[in-house]
Amino acid sequence: MKESRGLLIGRMQPVHHGHIQVIKQTLEEVDELIIGIGSAQLSHSTTDPFTAGERVMMLTKALAENNIDTASYYIIPIQDIQMNAVWVSHIKMLTPPFGKIFSGNPLVQRLFEEENYEVAKPPLFKREKLSGTEVRRRMLANEDWKKLVPKSTAEIIEEINGIKRIQHLNQKEDSER
Ligand code: NAD
Repeated sequence: MKESRGLLIGRMQPVHHGHIQVIKQTLEEVDELIIGIGSAQLSHSTTDPFTAGERVMMLTKALAENNIDTASYYIIPIQDIQMNAVWVSHIKMLTPPFGKIFSGNPLVQRLFEEENYEVAKPPLFKREKLSGTEVRRRMLANEDWKKLVPKSTAEIIEEINGIKRIQHLNQKEDSER
C-alpha cells in the first residue's frame, strides 16, 4: 500500500544515476516524495562544488528527463545545522509533513529512528561507481564522469563550467596544503 508522503535527503554533489534510481523506486511506495537537497549552504569546494540552486536545476531536469510527474515531488534545499539532536525538527520546519523517510546514510537513519520515524534503507545500486565521490574523482582526473550522471546533469555541468571550477578549486587547495 502507498504511504502518502515520504522524504529523501541527499547532498547530490552532483546528481547521479544512483539518485534517480532510488527516487524512482521510492515513488513506487509513496504518492508524493519530498527531496531535500542537503548541505544547501555549501558550494565551491572539491567535495561540494555545486550550489544548492545548481543542484535544484540538475535534479529538476534529470527527473523531467526520466518522465517523472512534476506533481509527485517537492525539491527543497536544506542547510545543515550544528546540532544533530535537533536536525529532524529543522527538517520538519522546512518541509511538507511526511510519514516515512528513505535513506542509505547511517546518521540520517539514526536521527530519524530516534524520533520514531519509519526509516526505509533502500539498496545502493553499483555503489562503487554511483557515488558523488567517484563522479568528482573522475572530474578531477579527466576520466569519463558523464556516463555516471543523467544527460541533463552533464549538460548543466558544462553550462556552468563545472569541470573548470572543480579543477581550479583543487589547484587552490593543493597550494594551501
Ligand atoms: P548522498 O547524495 O550521498 O545520498 C543521498 C541518498 O541517495 C542516500 O541516502 C542513498 O539512499 C541514495 N543513494 C546514493 N547513491 C546511491 C546509489 N548508488 N544507489 C542507490 N541509492 C543511492 O547524500 P547524503 O550524504 O546521504 O546526504 C545527507 C545530507 O543530510 C547531507 O547534506 C548532510 O549534511 C545532511 N545532514 C545534516 C545534518 C545536520 O545538519 N546536523 C545531520 C545529518 C545529515
